[in-house]
Amino acid sequence: MADQLIRATAAGGGIRAVGAITTRLTEEARKRHKLSYVATAALGRTMSAGLLLASNMKRAESRVNIRVKGNGPLGGILVDAGLDGTVRGYVDNPEIELPPKPNGKLDVGGAVGSEGYLYAIRDVGYGYPYSSTVELVSGEIGDDVTHYLATSEQTPSALVVGVFVGAAGVSAAGGILLQVMPKAATDETLVQTLESRVAALSGFTPLLQAGKTLPEMFELLLEDMGLEILPEVQMVRFHCGCSPDRFLGALKLLGEAELQDMIEKDDGAEATCHFCNEVYQASSDDLSQLIGALKAQS
Ligand code: ZN
Repeated sequence: MADQLIRATAAGGGIRAVGAITTRLTEEARKRHKLSYVATAALGRTMSAGLLLASNMKRAESRVNIRVKGNGPLGGILVDAGLDGTVRGYVDNPEIELPPKPNGKLDVGGAVGSEGYLYAIRDVGYGYPYSSTVELVSGEIGDDVTHYLATSEQTPSALVVGVFVGAAGVSAAGGILLQVMPKAATDETLVQTLESRVAALSGFTPLLQAGKTLPEMFELLLEDMGLEILPEVQMVRFHCGCSPDRFLGALKLLGEAELQDMIEKDDGAEATCHFCNEVYQASSDDLSQLIGALKAQS
């Protein structure tokens, strides 16, 4: 199944549901960053959460950044996701591996650490990003993002994210977010109903692994509540906006003296994009051209 995001409503618009399949983009992140199993699960879960959070924003250029900084060996996680369906991200220590938990699941909480913070920044495209911080609950990502939604955005929410990864790569990844809409947030019955679905939602990852589609999963969760699945199927993908031109642009900002220094000491310049692990190189000739361009400007 192609990576995709589908939206739905229930309870006469009082509940909003979003689901995302992120199998391929999680596999792309795994390959790009040479992620261990547990790092694949941690980053994959956070990327799914980012796409789900971004999905309820309004302006086309809206983006969400999620930074998770726990006390575990994985170090930090940074994810940048957009309403346009693009997402990118990385972890500090991609090679960290931990033994699975007694229940056979990957120990994401152990890798991330249960003490630390989740920072979320919502940029609606006006240049005034809204940011907030919450303490981590478990480091398992799903719990932590749910806690963020409940405390910072004061939206009763239930979120589940999951990744299945093995020797052959990522076999399934995705997530589902259920939220009581702000206008209905004071409706106690609705909030309780949502909470009653959280248990059912925990069955999401086995369904995902079994290859169930998002509409099938929505039906299992909300069929008795006036489920309406929106017709649009949005494609989601791993995408980073870096490029050779941007690399050269960034070098140019260093100025003439620094560029001359790079020519003499390093015979060029090289940089790796944190987000996508793409390596960019500039030869001494490239750097000389940049110096020429800077001289022509001054
Ligand atoms: Zn990049």
